[in-house]
Amino acid sequence: METIREPARNIPVRDKVDVIVVGGGPAGIGAALASARIGAKTVLIERFGALGGQQTQGLNSVFSRVDPELHNGIVQEILQRLMNGGAMRKPDERRMRQNPMRTHFIARYGEEHIPKRLLNTNVGWWGGEKIFDLEYYKYLLDTMMQEAGVRMYLHSFAASTIRDGNTLKGIITEGKEGRRAILGKAIIDTTGDGDIAWKCGAPVMDDTIPLGRRKGRHMGSLTAFYLGGVDLGKWLEYRKAHMDEWGQMYGGHRMVREARKKGAYIRGDSIILSPLHSVHGGGRIWVMNPMYGPREDNHLWMAEEQTNLEVSLRKQAFAVQNVLKQQIPGFEKCFVEKTANYPVTTMHRIIGDHVLTVAEMREGKTFEDSIAINNQPPDIWEVAGRFGYEILPHDIPYRCIVSKEVDNLLAAGTTISCGLFTNGGLRYCTPSMCNGQAAGTAAALAAKNNISPKDLDVNLLRDTLREQSAHVSVNDVPEEAIEPYKFMKKISKVNKKNSEVNIDEEEIGKY
Ligand SMILES: Cc1cc2nc3c(=O)[nH]c(=O)nc-3n(C[C@H](O)[C@H](O)[C@H](O)COP(=O)(O)OP(=O)(O)OC[C@H]3O[C@@H](n4cnc5c(N)ncnc54)[C@H](O)[C@@H]3O)c2cc1C
Repeated sequence: METIREPARNIPVRDKVDVIVVGGGPAGIGAALASARIGAKTVLIERFGALGGQQTQGLNSVFSRVDPELHNGIVQEILQRLMNGGAMRKPDERRMRQNPMRTHFIARYGEEHIPKRLLNTNVGWWGGEKIFDLEYYKYLLDTMMQEAGVRMYLHSFAASTIRDGNTLKGIITEGKEGRRAILGKAIIDTTGDGDIAWKCGAPVMDDTIPLGRRKGRHMGSLTAFYLGGVDLGKWLEYRKAHMDEWGQMYGGHRMVREARKKGAYIRGDSIILSPLHSVHGGGRIWVMNPMYGPREDNHLWMAEEQTNLEVSLRKQAFAVQNVLKQQIPGFEKCFVEKTANYPVTTMHRIIGDHVLTVAEMREGKTFEDSIAINNQPPDIWEVAGRFGYEILPHDIPYRCIVSKEVDNLLAAGTTISCGLFTNGGLRYCTPSMCNGQAAGTAAALAAKNNISPKDLDVNLLRDTLREQSAHVSVNDVPEEAIEPYKFMKKISKVNKKNSEVNIDEEEIGKY
């Protein structure tokens, strides 16, 4: 490729702070709040005009599998404030008890053989996802950042880094006003893509799919959109009468297959239609599964691929709308209400002193330097599917959120040190926000003590997190709370129908 030399220039220094958090998704939210709350001068940089990351920009208004025995601290506080603001669906006990899968379990295994907590707790097994209103969430996050004293810079893209040897000195942002430098003692990469680690030359993982038909190729993407104007009552009646086609989370296989034969541009083989996202009523359906695999197997960070991706996903949204409109009762007057401008992607992750694997997730591994807990199984939409592949709650070690090479660089959320398949679980919102809280706390403690996060006493970090009511290790969790996971793991079977790979425990375990 032809190159030109960019002329050197002086850049105004906008701020000198203790902690810089780059990226305002669930991980960045946890990190910035935690850092500022323990007194560190904290800046949060975000390229879009609102916080929330893939939640607000990608239309994922869901926190999955929030288990009060495993996740506390900032994530629970946010959920409570969403609830208090009337912006989250109330838990529906009746719905949980009537859940068809729960009824099926009782019939199959006998109530007496199923752990009580599994039957009586709604952490996601029986439809207990926390679904909320995105606009209120944006407003709530602004409010919480202001309360905590976090200085936010929205519409600011972290374009470059300032690195001196093994130390990261700061971030250069690019916005309408041009370039600005922000200097900090500790920097947290919560960009979802490992942008900061990659841009500063820290070692990162940029891996391709290790198994299956697409071995050696980069992961693709998927997205969601909202349909408005749906007659939910009519649709739910129809669904009840067509459980074979629509009773599964991923439904509509037959409809999609036939539409495709007639030329409809739909790339997934099924769709999710969630009426639960109609938080305030009004006939909204959340549709998920339009998919995109990079052409020529390019990486999704390339502008050409991102353009193709956005075009393809919008085309699919309208194709799905048209098919539903023509074929499914309740959708006659539906319209595409909103498409996402930030699809799910998998890009760079930092390399820390530990790289977490699926085998460690499966065995529920604990670590002495654990700072948060994950209970989300790997969800690798293009390769292995998720359902049926259960894990035990496991620890996330501090070594996974600290860069191996750059002294004051931490990461949280999607970008932590783990294998590609492991990332399929760890990237979820709840573990992201919890390890974000840990990263923010660590960065603030290190900055206050003028030490590198690498030299931080991990017990001080764990104690500080516990003071914030966060859960730091499975070792602290009562045995009864883990029993449901053990039961689910024992009975779960890999859903080979959704899987491109012949799931081999040992092989998958490495990633
Ligand atoms: C359609 C869809 C469905 C999903 N379903 C679920 C689900 O059911 N349950 C669940 O838990 N999770 C789900 N997810 C995944 C979940 O939302 C993400 O894994 C999670 O948001 C990751 O959090 P994060 O903070 O690591 O990164 P992100 O949410 O990706 O946030 C990163 C932030 O960094 C910003 N950023 C990136 N680069 C820069 C830069 N250079 N400069 C400045 N800012 C930058 C981005 O704009 C963004 O705000 C879904 C996601 C999507 C899109």
